Amino acid sequence: MNDGLENLQNYFKQLRLTETATELPNILRKAEQSTWTYREFIKEIVEFELTKREEKSIEKRMRWAKFPYMKTLELFDLSDQTSLNERQLNQLKELNWLEQQYNLILLGPPGVGKTHLAIGLGIEAIQKGFNVMFVTMGELINLLKTREFTRKSQVQLNRIESSDLVIIDDLMYMAMDSREANLFFHLINHLYERSSIILTSNKSPDQWGELLGDEGITTAILDRILHRVEVVQMNDDSYRMKHRQGMF
Ligand code: ADP
Ligand code: MG
Repeated sequence: MNDGLENLQNYFKQLRLTETATELPNILRKAEQSTWTYREFIKEIVEFELTKREEKSIEKRMRWAKFPYMKTLELFDLSDQTSLNERQLNQLKELNWLEQQYNLILLGPPGVGKTHLAIGLGIEAIQKGFNVMFVTMGELINLLKTREFTRKSQVQLNRIESSDLVIIDDLMYMAMDSREANLFFHLINHLYERSSIILTSNKSPDQWGELLGDEGITTAILDRILHRVEVVQMNDDSYRMKHRQGMF
């Protein structure tokens, strides 16, 4: 029986059903102890492989997303956030905006939870099968500027450009020169109507022009970002300040 089992496991491996190959002895034991029909038995095997693959795919995409930290929406406390109610949060969580390629702009001063909310939505999107990338504005500009001669930047940008959701954190926190604004415009133009973007910023879009410098480019960027957008203004006191653990 045993050498037969090993043969069988090798067949599964050849068919690239590696998860099932490893688990086969347990599945067979379970089958012997139960009253499964042939059909149920096959279903058990196929479902096992599919579930494992799904888990692996989620794990892989979570790593690729490069979140600075993992905080889910379940950890997002609404009692301190009067600018966002439960119904709105649930709507965001359903991800219709992502399916319809809407962008999301999360505005507000530091510490109100913009990054946390963006990451929480990113995690949700990965669990639902989307590809997500998180990048700060500073990193993004750096990637764009080094794309031509750095393999690592190329890989990162290719992932960004093929993601369903790109989270750009802390937009306009620094002023850009015209070359940077140009590179940024080309990226936005590429993502436009192909993917969704979540932008977090402590400045409202009407102030973005100051930082982008060039008026023509600012208009072109805003045009694409604001074409299909949902804006969430988060103006409560800093969660970080309210919940900080003081020494005294
Ligand atoms: P921002 O990006 O707006 O500057 P962050 O998202 O980085 O703020 O939030 C700062 C810290 O406070 C993080 O640790 C975050 O998890 C926490 N935080 C902010 N708002 C909330 C909230 N509503 N519920 C739970 N934690 C929050
Ligand atoms: Mg932030």
